[in-house]
Amino acid sequence: MAYVINDNCISCGVCEAECPTNCISAGDSKYAISADDCIDCGACAGVCPVEACVSA
Ligand code: SF4
Ligand code: SF4
Repeated sequence: MAYVINDNCISCGVCEAECPTNCISAGDSKYAISADDCIDCGACAGVCPVEACVSA
């Protein structure tokens, strides 16, 4: 299972810099995770200020 980014995202970009597989990128209204490349490490969830990165 991959992590996902929910609607709480404020597009701060902090998680993108922390992801070891570079699978997070900016989307239209919020950031998004490419599920195929997510290794479930949880780094994004640890740094997100609004708890928008969650384990799916
Ligand atoms: Fe990237 Fe890890 Fe978050 Fe997956 S859980 S999106 S690999 S930081
Ligand atoms: Fe969105 Fe959280 Fe990532 Fe910031 S750290 S871009 S609020 S998911």
